[in-house]
This record gives sequence, C-alpha cells and structure tokens, in this order.
Amino acid sequence: MLFWRVSDLVKKNLLTMDILEGIERSDGCPLCYLWAKSEERLLRHLLTNEVVMDPDFRKKVTAAKGFCNRHMHLLYRTAYSGHTENGRGYARYMQGVVEKIVEQIAPLTADLEGIELADSKIFFLKRKQKLSLLDNKIKHAIRGQKPCPACESLWSLDRIHLHTLVQMLEDKEFRKEFKSSRGLCLPHFLSAMQMLNRAKFENPLIVARTLIETEIKSLKLVGSYLSEFVRKSSWNFRKEPAGPEINANHMALILLAGTEGLYQVHKKDIFEETTGS
Ligand SMILES: [Zn+2]
Ligand SMILES: [Zn+2]
Repeated sequence: MLFWRVSDLVKKNLLTMDILEGIERSDGCPLCYLWAKSEERLLRHLLTNEVVMDPDFRKKVTAAKGFCNRHMHLLYRTAYSGHTENGRGYARYMQGVVEKIVEQIAPLTADLEGIELADSKIFFLKRKQKLSLLDNKIKHAIRGQKPCPACESLWSLDRIHLHTLVQMLEDKEFRKEFKSSRGLCLPHFLSAMQMLNRAKFENPLIVARTLIETEIKSLKLVGSYLSEFVRKSSWNFRKEPAGPEINANHMALILLAGTEGLYQVHKKDIFEETTGS
C-alpha cells in the first residue's frame, strides 16, 4: 500500500515538473509543448522491440488499420531517422494491416462475378444498391474500427497534463506564475474549461477566472502584435525597425490552432472509444 502511495506521489511530482517545464520552455501553450514532446517520444517508443512484439498492441494497430495520416508519416520518418534500429517495426505493423485489408476486400470480387455479362439486364436501381453496398464494405475494410492508437495515447496523456495543470491552478502561488505566462492555446483553453465543468476541483471558479483573464491578456497581446505587423508591412512604415511583432503570425497560429496535429482526430471519437460510451 505504502509503495503505491509513494509511487503516486512521485508520479504527481513528475507531472507537476512537466507542467513547470512546459511553462518555462515553451514560447506559447505549455500543454502544446508537452503534446509535441510526448508525440516525439511516443513514436520512438512505438518502434521499440518491446511494443512492436506486443501482440495486443499490434492487434490494436490492425483494428485501427494503421495510424492516421499524420502518424503514418511521422512513424515512417522516425523509423528511418537513425533513432531506431531500422524499418522492421514499421513493417511488422503494416504487414498486419495490409493482410487484414486484403482479407476483407478480396471476397468482394465474388459479389461482382457474372455481373459484366448480365449488366444490361440489371436495373439501374439494383446496380446502384450493389455499388453502395460495395462502397460501405470497402469503407469498413479501409477505415479502422478504432481511432489511431498514437492519437489515442496522446489524447490520454493530454488529459493527464490538463488535469494536473488545472489542479495546480488551485494554488495561489502557481496562479501568479501562470498569469505571467502566455496562457494556453484556444483548443487547450476550451479543454481546460470543459474539464473544470466536468471534474471535481476545490476552487473551480477562481481557476476559471485565472484561465479566462490569462487568455484575454494573451489574445490582446497577439492582437496588438498583429496590428503592428500589418502597419509595419505597409509602404509608408516599411523602414521602421522590426520589434516583437515580427513573430505575430506564428504567435497567432499557435494561440488559435495549437501545435501541429493537436486534437486532429475528433476528440469526441476518442472520448467515446476510451469511455466505451
Ligand atoms: Zn495548447
Ligand atoms: Zn494519429
């Protein structure tokens, strides 16, 4: 029992340190910083022997028909980045996926046998029905029945980081530190507000106020940089030396959309999968 308590405490401290690192090192949203860092680590981890040789995980990959477009490409790049041994792990995953798709698509040609000859005799509607059925079966064979396993892991980690951050915001000293930061990107801001609404916290209203105030400050700052950027881009002011507004577009990008790939698989899909609702 004591072991678990200590272990939980250590885990909590590590998570707190992650959030502090995110605030210190990121030039925008700390949760996006942690998302990007986790994504890089996760992709390397997925190519380790330990994970590749885990039949349950491979089953999960096959059921999802691989990964989403982003993670198919990132995993491929990671496999050949020199950080992992070679492309064997990638091949093991894709072998299962390709075999499953062939298994599901191959029987469909039997449905079409004899159709070419009888084509003219088949009524237009019947043909349409057949094509629509085929369309659905192919969709079913190609698209997975499960969300991308990488997106799913990132989503779960994000929930943990989000919960840790909101919990930390119940502390007065941390609130001060957070208020002087750039705050969260809008997708994470919305997630934090939703979490405040759904989970139990001691001072949800104080935390909500801190989040909103910090967000407004950040939006206003980016807004002023964008105005300045637009002004200095005009002919009359083009010779004025550049200031901090030089990064206005990047700041707006991160603030409005979050880091690249954030929540790209619809959150609702993953949430429903993980809760089984
Ligand atoms: Zn973010
Ligand atoms: Zn993905």
